[in-house]
Amino acid sequence: MKDRCGAMVLDSGGWHRHRCRRTVWKDGFCHQHHPENVEARRIKREKLWEEKRLATPLFQLERLKGKMQKLEKEVERHRKLLRTVYPLTVKFIKRDPDPGSCFVKMINWETERLIVSNGAVELFPEFSEVELYFGE
Ligand SMILES: [Zn+2]
Repeated sequence: MKDRCGAMVLDSGGWHRHRCRRTVWKDGFCHQHHPENVEARRIKREKLWEEKRLATPLFQLERLKGKMQKLEKEVERHRKLLRTVYPLTVKFIKRDPDPGSCFVKMINWETERLIVSNGAVELFPEFSEVELYFGE
């Protein structure tokens, strides 16, 4: 007679425990109850749960919120940095011929315009029209 698996299992009603009826596959356990296979199934189950959790809209939303907060902090950091690194100069990247550089007098973050001066006149370029350079 072949040895029986050593695992204790619940009956179909879930009330009583009895010895597994399968024959031994390895180390005193059947294929299903061998600790290696039990652990492999647990890992697979947890991986599936984690994938499901990551795919839920709520989780995605939370992740995006976190990303946005991080970006907002980054933007604020750059704004502060710009305020403290005057003088700034700009080069007009869309003008031909190059009119030379102007000093940035103010930055309007709402309208994305700069107030720049070349000493004689003030100009109001948009961010997309210029490249910024730190220093004189
Ligand atoms: Zn078994």
